[in-house]
Amino acid sequence: MAYNAGQIKEILSNAGRRANRALGQNFCTDTELLSRCVKTAGFSENSRVLEIGPGLGALTRELLAAGASVTAVEKDGFLADLLPELLPDSRLNVYHEDILRFPISEHVDPPFSVAGNLPYYITTPIVERMLPLFPDVMLFMVQKEASARFFASPGERVYGPLSIMTRCFYRCEVLADVPPDRFYPSPDVASAFVLLRRADPARSFPDGARYLRFLHSAFSKRRKTLTNNITDPGLPAVMNTLGIPLSVRAEALFPEQFLSLYALYAETAAPQSADT
Ligand code: SAM
Repeated sequence: MAYNAGQIKEILSNAGRRANRALGQNFCTDTELLSRCVKTAGFSENSRVLEIGPGLGALTRELLAAGASVTAVEKDGFLADLLPELLPDSRLNVYHEDILRFPISEHVDPPFSVAGNLPYYITTPIVERMLPLFPDVMLFMVQKEASARFFASPGERVYGPLSIMTRCFYRCEVLADVPPDRFYPSPDVASAFVLLRRADPARSFPDGARYLRFLHSAFSKRRKTLTNNITDPGLPAVMNTLGIPLSVRAEALFPEQFLSLYALYAETAAPQSADT
């Protein structure tokens, strides 16, 4: 069971603390929602899950109940110390660290999945840190507005590297729209639970981190053309081969076009410059 608002308030105030808004602390109180989303994600005894920001363990509890082993990374030292007391379980390891610095490969062996009711102030950096690792499944609670990035198409304002990486390598669905009253304290914004399942191309893709850097270079100045943003002399020839006009902007290219472009560019142009 997730704690209700009164219980959360009591746990925090007994320790002389309050929810830390600067750390995006909005604790989920809806057990049924968490349980349903974990079930839909299909976690089981075979799942190794990296959990981001476990807080008081509302989602952690459901992951453990599904049988998963959980490596949880929590930036708030008080919560990181408290969680193993609230949820004593040999399958749970809690680290007091910042997820953006946590050395994931030292603690979690692939294949693994990722889950988290994310701290909204760093949603994009977190998702962009996870995507190149190609987790099997990613289950995230995000601000509803941010969820649009996972589905964005060329020409949309929020279309960018995150949308392209997601759409190239994952099948993405919204599991639930979540109103503010399902959290304590209530955030000022609506939320959404999104599920991303890895698709086939990710299995054979050599280097997700490099591809992401390439995409960031392509979008570095949105109003400029792709060849203005990536000035490598090898790029125009690759674009010509694929029939992509040299006047194109990154925001106009479809994810599949980016993938073909990058694959040929990394192979035929100077490979070291693929991460311009
Ligand atoms: N999972 C809990 C739940 O659903 O009730 C808490 C979710 S709350 C939205 C976000 C959590 O992420 C908080 O516990 C917060 O302290 C933690 N957090 C914030 N920034 C973090 C970071 N950089 N690395 C790891 N955890 C972070």
